[in-house]
Amino acid sequence: MYRSPIKHCKNCGSAVIYRVPDDGDTKERAVCPTCATIHYENPLNVVGTVPHWGDRVLLCKRNIEPRWGKWTLPAGFMELHETTSQGAARETDEEAGAQFEMESLFSMLNVERVGQVHLFYRARLLSDQFKPGHETIEARLFTEAEIPWDEIAFKTVKTTLECYFADRRKGSYSIHVLDIT
Ligand SMILES: [Zn+2]
Repeated sequence: MYRSPIKHCKNCGSAVIYRVPDDGDTKERAVCPTCATIHYENPLNVVGTVPHWGDRVLLCKRNIEPRWGKWTLPAGFMELHETTSQGAARETDEEAGAQFEMESLFSMLNVERVGQVHLFYRARLLSDQFKPGHETIEARLFTEAEIPWDEIAFKTVKTTLECYFADRRKGSYSIHVLDIT
């Protein structure tokens, strides 16, 4: 989920150079030596859900790289012109083909190293039947004891699952804001 550095100017197509712009900026940017366009790169949001059915949670086995064959909560990059909640619902529909009702924001995880913020909402499943999309090999429900902890694709997913089952044992859910290193 890393982004490769910008190579060419979006305005004129020239090869960019990385340098601190002359406008008082303090960070290196991709600057076009031909038309002087400065390309700003900012963090991306990854949005997803914790779909739950009784004491079980829905995980998807990834049919795409990175982490092919590993298990994840339904999640993906937020698109333009959608809210975080809409994006999380869209990813859950696309990856699992699940029927569900969106609930509250559950976790917000800063992944500063790769310039991402991951947001997971709880989602109440309305059926235990799934129609996984092409990005998913298999979608199935797991109890806490059944979760394949060593086969979880991303640290943000593992952390969110740990928080979810801890809250479930307590009988109350709160919002978890965490920094992933
Ligand atoms: Zn240019």
